[in-house]
Amino acid sequence: MTGQHPFRRLHSVDWFRLIFIGLGMPLALCSWGFSSHRCIHDAAIQALPEPLHAFFKEHRSWLVTHAVDADLRKHAVVGEAEKHFIDLDLYGVSMDSLKHHFPRDEEDARLAFGDSTLIANGTGPWSALRTYHRLVASFSRKDEAMILRHAADLGHYVSDLHVPLHTTSNYNGAQTGQHGIHSLWETQLPELFIDTYQLTPGIDCNLPAARYIADPQLCLWNATFDSHQAVDSVLYFEAMLSHELGRASTHAYVERGRTHQRMRTFEFTSQYHQALSGQVERRMQQSIYTVSSLWYSAWVDAGQPDMPRPTIHQDLSWIKRLNNWLFR
Ligand SMILES: [Zn+2]
Repeated sequence: MTGQHPFRRLHSVDWFRLIFIGLGMPLALCSWGFSSHRCIHDAAIQALPEPLHAFFKEHRSWLVTHAVDADLRKHAVVGEAEKHFIDLDLYGVSMDSLKHHFPRDEEDARLAFGDSTLIANGTGPWSALRTYHRLVASFSRKDEAMILRHAADLGHYVSDLHVPLHTTSNYNGAQTGQHGIHSLWETQLPELFIDTYQLTPGIDCNLPAARYIADPQLCLWNATFDSHQAVDSVLYFEAMLSHELGRASTHAYVERGRTHQRMRTFEFTSQYHQALSGQVERRMQQSIYTVSSLWYSAWVDAGQPDMPRPTIHQDLSWIKRLNNWLFR
């Protein structure tokens, strides 16, 4: 165990490498899993009130596709990797102490711990807040491209903060002999059970519509602390089931696309999901609510500007675009 997050070692931007990574990166290395991030963005759009809902719906395809851009950048852009997590355990204080005394303001934290510690331990909540302020400024300028860019990234960072293992240095179970638990919780479980989750705001679901959040900093830290509080159960139930079932029953080569990967068995995954008692679904629901509320709040904080008429990122296939170009 090096204590290094897998995405913390970064290199200069190289577009060919970026494209290669984007195409070839296994799902196991993605935060929340790509499909979960996209699902959260999609549902968050549906939770928005007008006129934001109409604007975001126009750009639904772009926002859903680009929900994972921040993860793709982790491999190529210096300073990106630390925005996706915060290892609160490395600050060595109790949950109670964290809630009451941990500096939520980035400048206060920098003064208390220093830049290098902040970067090494992750800057998730502070980075999300910076992105929130950029989104407010983009709404104020009615800058359509930047609204979309920052909304996509804010949604991603906020969703990552709802993943318990994004708040601990034992993010992949290496410290407790639970290697692979990261992708088990945030990728394998949602992939298998997402069809049973209630993630669409509306009459069939208790998921609330977006509401104005007066203190986005507090909201982001509450989400982070809630995630951190869930780390114990994420680890405990995996360890308990591994002990009960024995290693021979916990792992197998599972077909994923055209490859076979050694992962937890369906039997293990099902029992783990049951033991967690809806935890993954609840964290996804909370992600959707927080993302939509922060998008909406950024628009309110910008003075509720009239939304620009959509001019870019239209949901057009290449055939439609070619057709438009040929026959315009
Ligand atoms: Zn991420």
